[in-house]
Amino acid sequence: MIAFCPKCWKNSHGAESMREMKDAEFVTMKNGRRAAKGTCTVCGRGMYKIVKSTEA
Ligand SMILES: [Zn+2]
Repeated sequence: MIAFCPKCWKNSHGAESMREMKDAEFVTMKNGRRAAKGTCTVCGRGMYKIVKSTEA
């Protein structure tokens, strides 16, 4: 899964920000929205991606 990584975005001065997420797991937030939670394969930072409820 590809997700936005703010750390990679900063490191590359805005040139690269979409990174592969490893160990992705789906969580439901307090507001009922679903998100994928995982780790950036490039820098190791924890990252989130909001997903539509229809996505598994
Ligand atoms: Zn990263």
